[in-house]
Amino acid sequence: MTKALLLIDLQNGFCPGGNLPVADGDAVVPVANRLMRDGGYDLVIASQDWHPSNHGSFASQHAGKKPFDMGELSGQPQVMWPDHCVQDTPDADFHPALDVSRIDHVQRKGENPKVDSYSAFRDNDRAALTGLAEFLRSKNVTELDLLGLATDYCVRFSALDAVEMLPGVRVRLIADGCRGIDPKGVEDALSAMADAGVEITDSSRIGI
Ligand SMILES: [Zn+2]
Repeated sequence: MTKALLLIDLQNGFCPGGNLPVADGDAVVPVANRLMRDGGYDLVIASQDWHPSNHGSFASQHAGKKPFDMGELSGQPQVMWPDHCVQDTPDADFHPALDVSRIDHVQRKGENPKVDSYSAFRDNDRAALTGLAEFLRSKNVTELDLLGLATDYCVRFSALDAVEMLPGVRVRLIADGCRGIDPKGVEDALSAMADAGVEITDSSRIGI
């Protein structure tokens, strides 16, 4: 039995002061730190949004688009984001308060400029895998808890892929370790995850 914790995109870009800040996003960093220390996990993985500067999810790459407009990327509807988490910039760094010494494996995503990767497991077109599912299988992970930013995008897609791509693995979302962009989107995300078989729990119930 291997228990793993997956931290989704705990990067400066998604925290207050970053380029695509999620309200109160930095509030989940102490939750992550406590769970890494006391949660009884065998393995800690952190995903990192890691975009080239010409990434197609950026409004700046589409004439006439501004951030948060809807557009299209690789034939699918795509939110046009502000430039964020550009490789080798402070915006892409993990939040400075995150205890990175406890992270065993970093899974980067979003490197292909032609498609976005909300999920830590595969691109949004579902064609290219990041390798995370295979990595977790190779470690015989039986339980996977996740938290991070943002609930309605990268956390949602990662949790749904975890359930689908890792059959038999117990997947739990640590709700107080997540923050979202849009309140309605967060509500939809929580019900979609619960419907798919993700257990919704709270960090206060872990490792005490
Ligand atoms: Zn991104």
